[in-house]
Amino acid sequence: MNTMKLCCLNQSQLKGLKRELQILHEQLQADLKAEQSDQQEELSQISCSEVHDRCEAAAATELNQTSISHIKQLEEEIRECQSALQRIENGGYGCCEKCGEEIELNRLMANPAAVLCVGCQSRDELHRVRDSGAAF
Ligand SMILES: [Zn+2]
Repeated sequence: MNTMKLCCLNQSQLKGLKRELQILHEQLQADLKAEQSDQQEELSQISCSEVHDRCEAAAATELNQTSISHIKQLEEEIRECQSALQRIENGGYGCCEKCGEEIELNRLMANPAAVLCVGCQSRDELHRVRDSGAAF
């Protein structure tokens, strides 16, 4: 008896999505490595050349901030990939984290690391828009 809930996905679909996730995971890690070495290079350049110009220093910091937020985003995506891969192993993959409903196959194919169904995702985004919109 297989009591593990696999939702509507069959083994071959699951296998395909797992492969997608592994490829995505590798790409993200390569991106992260490239971004990190870029940042290292920028930092060493900044410390090597004496930055007397305050504008230049500010621009360098800004560049660094962009790079840091990009790295954070990549790390976040890598985490999502890993947890999706874990769910494939342990069961529960393909179900919405919020409502437990099955996530549409089309959606998983477009984004194998998706954890929310379309309904929950759009509600989530609506909240975010509302939260950020409160500022103005
Ligand atoms: Zn949902």
